[in-house]
Amino acid sequence: MNYNFTKDEIIEIFCEVFKDLCIHKNQQNVSCIFHEDRKPSMSVNLDKGVFYCFSCGEKGNIVTLKKYTKGNFNE
Ligand SMILES: [Zn+2]
Repeated sequence: MNYNFTKDEIIEIFCEVFKDLCIHKNQQNVSCIFHEDRKPSMSVNLDKGVFYCFSCGEKGNIVTLKKYTKGNFNE
């Protein structure tokens, strides 16, 4: 699937949601925001702009996160 996002935009949006990622931009596993995560269970792929949590099964892509940052999700 092809999204109209540059790698920089993907990184920016992913960093906004997954704070761990801001520290290590090439990190592939970060703490999941969808469940209480004690270890990094969220696998992110910045090349494809997708994420998948192997602990709670939450998954999505850059578009999902874009909605998230716009406040469509509430804790
Ligand atoms: Zn999770």
